[in-house]
Amino acid sequence: MTILLTTLNARYTHASLGLRYLLANMGELQEQTKIREFVIGARSTDVVEKILAFRQPGKKFIVGFGVYIWNVVETSQIVAILKRVAPDVVVILGGPEVSHETGDQEIIRLADYVITGWGDISFAHLCQQILRGPQPLMKIHAGLQPPMNDIRLPYQLYSDQDIRHRTLYVEASRGCPFKCEFCLSSLDKTAWPFDIDVFLAEMESLYQRGARLFKFVDRTFNLNIKTSLKIMQFFLDKLAAAPDDPVFAHFEVVPDHLPDALKEGIQKFPEGTLQFEIGIQSFNPEVQSLISRKQNNDKAAENIRWLCEHSHAHLHVDLIAGLPGETMQSFAAGFNKLVALGPHEIQFGILKRLRGTPVIRHTEAFQLTFDPQPPYTILANKDVPFADMQKLVRFARYWDMVANSGRFANTLPVILADAPFENFLAFSDWIYTSTDATHRIALDRLAGLVSKWLQEERGMEREAALALVSSDYAGDAKHKQSSSKPVAEKTTAKATPQRQSRHIAA
Ligand code: SF4
Repeated sequence: MTILLTTLNARYTHASLGLRYLLANMGELQEQTKIREFVIGARSTDVVEKILAFRQPGKKFIVGFGVYIWNVVETSQIVAILKRVAPDVVVILGGPEVSHETGDQEIIRLADYVITGWGDISFAHLCQQILRGPQPLMKIHAGLQPPMNDIRLPYQLYSDQDIRHRTLYVEASRGCPFKCEFCLSSLDKTAWPFDIDVFLAEMESLYQRGARLFKFVDRTFNLNIKTSLKIMQFFLDKLAAAPDDPVFAHFEVVPDHLPDALKEGIQKFPEGTLQFEIGIQSFNPEVQSLISRKQNNDKAAENIRWLCEHSHAHLHVDLIAGLPGETMQSFAAGFNKLVALGPHEIQFGILKRLRGTPVIRHTEAFQLTFDPQPPYTILANKDVPFADMQKLVRFARYWDMVANSGRFANTLPVILADAPFENFLAFSDWIYTSTDATHRIALDRLAGLVSKWLQEERGMEREAALALVSSDYAGDAKHKQSSSKPVAEKTTAKATPQRQSRHIAA
């Protein structure tokens, strides 16, 4: 074994699709290549020790790291230690975080080689050169984008263990034709599909091996409706054939493009089997124009409402705070509009300056100030000062704990009342003042805080507040946790994620 592919995943359950692509395309070097994944939070020295355990005496040893915004800090530490204790190990970096602005990154300084962009084919080429010569002259190698049919699909490299215990990431296409300036996919300018029949044959094989949870990483699942329908039909056939052992599929969709044929298909999915991530990002037309995001807001709103009312799809809708031109007021208006449409979750993100994204062209005009450390979150801009941005960051955190978690289904509408953003912001400010914490708030404590806020800030009677919170799973958490599984988990598919199960049960 001379080549190790490794990365730090955000969680154990996230199996790295990128590493499996590299392994699938190693050609004659595949035999001598292995994958070893780690999880964020592992001790750097332990990771290095485990990496070096793969090295064979007297043989050249190449380690390829997948570097992302969420692991670049820890990966930098690991590479630094690795190069100190074993300077002869050849380190190759790849991934979105090292594909742009390569001149000013410490991790790149530490590494031997970097492949920017697509690594599927280029990683194997580079390894061939390192092992057999002639030695590569350059440090930075622009990855070659081969024809899609030349890329070997990696799905058989998901092990039985992966299939049983981890989320299986799959993709029917790469790239995106849209140009939202905050997004790395805006650099693609188009999308490239894999051969749909070959892809579905791979899905069939995963299904036959027991896979039931498929997460599509395609940036826009509903771009080519003919292909979307074919993929949906694949899952509908599985659901029809085995209703007691259902599959679960997650897709990212653009909201203003749901033709009737697609709606028809969507309606056939039973509860707990389909999830959509829908990017709205901003409902503000001025902001949309500034960041080159093309979106028909009326159509998008109409489609989200339709999905809520006429389908069982579980909807995660994304909004981003901190975009150039977005004020607190306009963000609040967008947020309230979205709440009124009724999606199950609102993924409240804060703008990040991803390396290579064109959003920085607004830096001067909108005084965009980003944290210099990953994940390069915005700290302030012309319209939202630092103190307000901090409030929004906390809002996002508490929103996830209270709203998106599905644990306060009965209480949330009372908190939000007729001004969701304003009321939740007041709640968020209060909870922060009371606890000085945004993390590690145990569920029982959180339920107690919600009840206290209703009494102190809303003037609810103690009994009424306690009864309301207790009517939720959260308020009753101790009791229910001790009596085996929550009710929701018993009634939905085993592949259905827990949060969705809670929303279904609510
Ligand atoms: S935000 Fe979505 S639609 Fe816009 S460029 Fe990125 S992937 Fe494409």
